[in-house]
Amino acid sequence: MTTTLGLPDTIQACLFDLDGVVTRTAVVHAAAWKEMFDGFLRDRDGAGHRPFDSHDYDEFVDGRPRADGVRTFLASRGIRLPEGSPDDPPDATTVHGLGNRKNELLLAKIRTDGVEAYESTLDYLRAARARGLRTAVVSSSANTRDVLRSIGAEDLFEVRVDGVVAAERGLPGKPHPDTFLAAARELGVAPDRAAVFEDALAGMDAGRAGHFGYVVGVDRVGQRDALYAHGADVVVKDLADLAAPGELGEHE
Ligand SMILES: [Mg+2]
Repeated sequence: MTTTLGLPDTIQACLFDLDGVVTRTAVVHAAAWKEMFDGFLRDRDGAGHRPFDSHDYDEFVDGRPRADGVRTFLASRGIRLPEGSPDDPPDATTVHGLGNRKNELLLAKIRTDGVEAYESTLDYLRAARARGLRTAVVSSSANTRDVLRSIGAEDLFEVRVDGVVAAERGLPGKPHPDTFLAAARELGVAPDRAAVFEDALAGMDAGRAGHFGYVVGVDRVGQRDALYAHGADVVVKDLADLAAPGELGEHE
């Protein structure tokens, strides 16, 4: 093991999740999911409904494709809805309708507040590129391209496997490893030579299932133990903590 950017020296590619790793959007997603599910549960169960909480977000929703997140959370409450179709209106009481309602709330929040990047992650990406490491973004989000453009980070990734690409190719999302494996393949790097950077438990599961060379858990919300339990090789609060002092310097 070497200490280059905190990665084993066998690693040739870095596969980055977007929300919560590159951008500070995990909290925005969590808020949009909560607003949508609490509205749905209130309509269904009345004032005594059990609200959607942060445990629900971490376990059942975070990192998964939108429709899978809806289905997985509802199943945890013993609720089953018709699937509907991806172009269902946001007021449809279907899996896709609820997903689209959440996406509307998310986009409204992003329009109001904008998207902020983690500068340390952008520094890490630049340092990785400067050392010849290959880079990809692997996200369940169908908004990945717009988000990357809004923070000026499109050029930091050679390959993008996001919700749009996954739907086109019929790839199952996280916790399945397929989207990460597709990114590694597109970069021409074997999975055991690629590192996964993720903040979601579903992302850890994907990293483990794909037998990737290294899985970095980024703990933004205090779920260190859960990230390890789901397969992280290392857990850091920020990518600045993974690199050795000076490795992310401005002039590298
Ligand atoms: Mg994430």
